[in-house]
Amino acid sequence: MEKTISARFLEIQEQVENQIKSLSYNQPVEIVAVSKKQPIDKIQEALESGHRHFGENFLQDAENKWPHLKTQFADAKLHFIGHIQSNKVKQITEMFDVVETIDRKKIAKAFADEMEKQQKNLKFYIQVNTGNEEQKSGVSINELEDLYNYCVNELKLHICGLMVIPPADEYPGPHFALLKKLAKQLGLDELSMGMSEDFEEAIQFGATSVRIGTKLFGIRES
Ligand SMILES: *Cc1c(COP(=O)(O)O)cnc(C)c1O
Repeated sequence: MEKTISARFLEIQEQVENQIKSLSYNQPVEIVAVSKKQPIDKIQEALESGHRHFGENFLQDAENKWPHLKTQFADAKLHFIGHIQSNKVKQITEMFDVVETIDRKKIAKAFADEMEKQQKNLKFYIQVNTGNEEQKSGVSINELEDLYNYCVNELKLHICGLMVIPPADEYPGPHFALLKKLAKQLGLDELSMGMSEDFEEAIQFGATSVRIGTKLFGIRES
């Protein structure tokens, strides 16, 4: 029989706790359950077992599930972790609590304007393209400081930390280490890094938030 979502969730929580214990410093690590392309009953099960932080990549996919789920679980917190198109900023602002993928000034400005209109205050991470991959979202390392200063000084956005998706074909450790170093240089505390396959490693490198999809919910619907 397939394990229940709550059993898997407990297992992941335990693995996270074990990693934290092995560190020389004590720090809490938040688990963001990545529910993109997962059926609503599995997400419902995670909510019923008490989980509250969820990550979604695609606006339409999220819109198909969350308005319904939020009627029962109004305190669920949604993280947008996908590539952002400027024509989606309005709806993302309406629906989400945290946006992890700020990577250019135009999008940052669009959120600042939209939040003022909606009288909302979201929390943001800047996504960094540590691998300098051409097709990948994320600001380049060279442009990070300028983008950060613009977000904080001119737009007054609440930037809590940095986020990374390391290149799929590389050992992720150096990317995690680099993200931590960049965050420290900017005086930022939060690091969103690590997915199903490498979250334990990410915690060793200082992750404060891990994004876990398949390990929690199983293989995604395509
Ligand atoms: C899909 C996705 C995840 C989750 O990936 P898994 O390997 O299923 O855990 C995490 N972060 C981002 C940005 C994603 O797009």
